[in-house]
Amino acid sequence: MNRAVFLDRDGTLIKDAHYLKDPEQIEIIEGVGCSLDAIKKSGFGIFMHTNQSGITRGYYGWEDVRACNHRMLQMLNLPEDFFDQVCIAPEDRFVPGGLRKPSPKFELEMISRYDLMPRRCWMVGDKWIDAETGLNAGMRAALVQTGKPLDDDLLDRAASLSVEVFTGLEQFVGHLLETIDE
Ligand SMILES: [Mg+2]
Repeated sequence: MNRAVFLDRDGTLIKDAHYLKDPEQIEIIEGVGCSLDAIKKSGFGIFMHTNQSGITRGYYGWEDVRACNHRMLQMLNLPEDFFDQVCIAPEDRFVPGGLRKPSPKFELEMISRYDLMPRRCWMVGDKWIDAETGLNAGMRAALVQTGKPLDDDLLDRAASLSVEVFTGLEQFVGHLLETIDE
């Protein structure tokens, strides 16, 4: 494995519920199951990086986040060990050297541990911090429009930094597979 896709969770894989705590409230975004499957079958490593400030803020605990991750995979009919690694960042604000996006600490660790080539890796999410995390790690970055709405300023910023914008994960995967040899 020298290529991988790093994915945000809320607004990218599942609908963004404010401080999601209850696994029963999870709604999978359309097309995500097939997309995750296609990424893995094409030989990409697959990682999830989710900011969960609700932990530090005391709104929920680590076990609630893990239960939601478990339920999400179950709803997608994917095994518990589907992701190569999952990073739950509990901080409530950006701390240099911490795990909270846009810190690329997790991505850089995975690049080293799995011998990934950053230019063959993508970070995909619905917020600018996701794109920034990818860029900070030397990866390619993509935004999906299934979560937080992207305004014109953000779309301009994305264009100026070669961050690609897709309607959702399914469209991103189409692009990923078309450009696999580039
Ligand atoms: Mg998100």
